[in-house]
Amino acid sequence: VREVGTPERSVVTTCAYCGVGCTFRAEMRGEQIVRMVPWKDGKANRGHSCVKGRFAWGYANHQDRITSPMVRESTDQPWREVSWDDALEFSATRIKAIKAEHGAQALGGITSSRCTNEETYLVQKLVRAGFGTNNVDTCARVCHSPTGYGLKTTFGTSAGTQDFDSVMASDVILVIGANPTDGHPVFASRMKQRLRQGAKLIVIDPRRIDLVKSPHVEAAHHLPLQPGTNVAVLTAMAHVIVTEGLADEDFIRARCDWDEYQDWARFVSDSRHAPERLEAVTRVPSSDLRAAARLFATGGNGSIYYGLGVTEHSQGSSTVMAIANLAMVTGNMGRPGVGVNPLRGQNNVQGACDMGSFPHELPGYRHISDNETRALFETDWGVTLDPDPGLRINNMLDAAVDGFFRAIYIQGEDILQSDPNTQHVAAGLSAMDLVIVHDLFLNETANYAHVFLPGSTFLEKNGTFTNAERRIQPVRKVMKPAAGYEDWQVTQLLANAIGANWNYAHPSEILDEIARLTPSFAGVSWSRLDEVGSLQWPVNDQFPDGAPVMHVEGFAGGKGKFVVTDYVPTDEKTGPRFPLLLTTGRILSQYNVGAQTRRTANTAWHPEDLLEMHPTDAENRGLSDGDWTRLQSRTGETTLRIKVTDRVAPGVVYTTFHHPATQANVVTTEFSDWATNCPEYKVTAVQVLPSNGP
Ligand code: SF4
Repeated sequence: VREVGTPERSVVTTCAYCGVGCTFRAEMRGEQIVRMVPWKDGKANRGHSCVKGRFAWGYANHQDRITSPMVRESTDQPWREVSWDDALEFSATRIKAIKAEHGAQALGGITSSRCTNEETYLVQKLVRAGFGTNNVDTCARVCHSPTGYGLKTTFGTSAGTQDFDSVMASDVILVIGANPTDGHPVFASRMKQRLRQGAKLIVIDPRRIDLVKSPHVEAAHHLPLQPGTNVAVLTAMAHVIVTEGLADEDFIRARCDWDEYQDWARFVSDSRHAPERLEAVTRVPSSDLRAAARLFATGGNGSIYYGLGVTEHSQGSSTVMAIANLAMVTGNMGRPGVGVNPLRGQNNVQGACDMGSFPHELPGYRHISDNETRALFETDWGVTLDPDPGLRINNMLDAAVDGFFRAIYIQGEDILQSDPNTQHVAAGLSAMDLVIVHDLFLNETANYAHVFLPGSTFLEKNGTFTNAERRIQPVRKVMKPAAGYEDWQVTQLLANAIGANWNYAHPSEILDEIARLTPSFAGVSWSRLDEVGSLQWPVNDQFPDGAPVMHVEGFAGGKGKFVVTDYVPTDEKTGPRFPLLLTTGRILSQYNVGAQTRRTANTAWHPEDLLEMHPTDAENRGLSDGDWTRLQSRTGETTLRIKVTDRVAPGVVYTTFHHPATQANVVTTEFSDWATNCPEYKVTAVQVLPSNGP
C-alpha cells in the first residue's frame, strides 16, 4: 500500500468497481489518498472489502490521466489540447451541423454503468431532449440487458428480488453462470459463510470455479454443462420437478397465472426434456442433474444467483426466464432466503438501467411509446419527445457503416475493447463524422475519436450508485476533479452548448428530478440518503423505507408469468476448422477491460490474459503450460499464453479480457441474444495453435 502520511480528513463513499457496492472511508492527506478503509456500517459490505476496492485506487492519480480537453479534425491528425470552451464549441458545432444535414436520428449516445445515476440520467436526457432522438444505449446492453427483459417479463420488475443478507436464510444456493469469488468477492464471502453453516450448493458452470471446491466449502453438485446449453439444463431440471410431483402448486395457484403454468408444465414434462434425452447436448450426467433438481425443490429455502454466464448468450433472455420459472415452480419467491439474484458486474449496472439508458425506455422502465409517461417527461423537460424507440448500440454501428448514423457521445465506456467483434466496432466508429469520448484515459475507442473530454473518477464527484440488491448509496467527493469538472457538469455544459438551459448546481437537484419523475425513486433524496446511509428501491408510499425483498405479497406485474423457453442451439458451431469452444470471464485482481486496475500497482500481479486449456487438448497440440498460442475464430485471431488446467473440460477453453494486448474480443462473434442483442461472448468456436509469441 502506498503510504503518504497521516490522514487529515476522511470521507465515506462507495466503491466504483463491482455491483456489490462496498462502502469505504477514504482517508485523505491534502488531495492524496492515504488509505481506503472498509466502512463498518456499510450495509452491503459490513466492514469487509476485496483487493480492488481496498487497494486499486492508484489510477485516480495515474500519470495517464488526461486532464485537458482535446480535439482533432480527423483521426489521422494528432490531438490538440484546447480549453473546455473550445472543446464544447467544437462538439456543439458539429452536432448541430450533422443534425441539420442528416436529422436527429443520425445522433446518439452511450451511458456508463461506471458513472453515477445522476450522470447516466443526464446523458439519456441530453440524447432524448437535446439531440431529439432515442438513440441511447448503455454498456448494460453487453452484460445484463437479458436480465432487464427476462425479469420484467416474468416478475414485472427488471431487478433482483433479494438483499445480500437474504443468503443467510438460504438452505440451497444455486449458482449458475457466475463466479462470485472473483467477480463479487465480498458477497462470495457471505455466501461461503452460509455454506459453512450447512447450506447446500449447486453450481452450474462449464468451468470448475473456486466455489465448487474450496477450503471448507464443497458443492453438493457441480453440473459442468457444455457452453451454450443453459436453457436445456434448466428445462431438464424443471422436467424432473414437475414430473416427480415436486412443484409447489399452492404457491403457483396463489401467486402465478395458473393457465400459463399448466401450458408450461405440459411443455417441460415432454419426454424430450428428460435429463437422459438431453445428456448428449448438455454433457451433464442425468443422474447428477436429477439429484440437483430434487435438492433444489425439496431442500428448503432455495435461492438462485447468476451472472454473465447466463446473460451473454444467444438465449440469454430465455435463460433468465427459465431461472424465474424454476424459482416460481418451487415456490422460492417473496421471503428471505429465496429469490432470483443477478450479480451485476459493474458498480452501477442496476442504476444505469433504472435511469432510462435503453432506447425504448424512459427512467423507471416505462416504454417510450406510452403517451402518459412521455407527457410527464415532456412537461417537465419542456420538449417534445420522439415516441419511437431508438437504436441499440450494435444498430448504431451498423447504421454508421451504412451512412445513416454520424455522431456519438460515449461516456465512460471503451466499446472498442469491451464490445464483441472488434473489427465491426472499428468499422462503425471509423464511419462517423463525430466521436466524442468522455473518459479518464485515452482508451482504445479514443483512437477513433475527434473530441476527448476528460472524465472524473468516483473519488472526484458526488452522486449515487445502485448496487445489485437495488441499494441506492451516496458517492461523495473525496478530492477535486483533476480536469476541473465532474462528469455530470460536462454533460450539462455540452447540453447547454447545443441550446439547452440546464442549471443543476449539485447532483442532489438531479436526484430530485429523478424522484419527481420515477415512481420507484419517489422517496429518495440526497438528504434522506445522508441520514439513513442507503435505500433499496422501490421507495414510495407503499414502501417508505424501501424493500429489501421484493414480491412479498404479489408480483409487481400482478401474477407471476411462466414463459415457455425452448432450447435452441446457438448458430456458433464447432467443426473441423474451429473444434473448441471458447468462454470468457474475469479474475479477482483485475476489472473488466482493466483501464483502472492495470494502472494500479497493487493489482499488477495479473499482468496478462491466459488461455486455460484441458491437458488432453494441450497434449494433442503439443502445447505445454506457458507456451504461446494463436487463438483463432472465424472473426479474428489473437496471441496469448496457455495455462494447462483441468478446471475446464476437454473441448472447452477459457480466457479473461482484461488486457488490450490480448484483445480477446477480436475473436468473439456478432451473434447475440434474440430479445436484447446482448452479445454471445460466452460461446465462440475457436482453434488453438502453437505460436512463437506476438
Ligand atoms: Fe469494490 Fe466489489 Fe471489491 Fe466490494 S467486492 S470492494 S464493491 S470490487
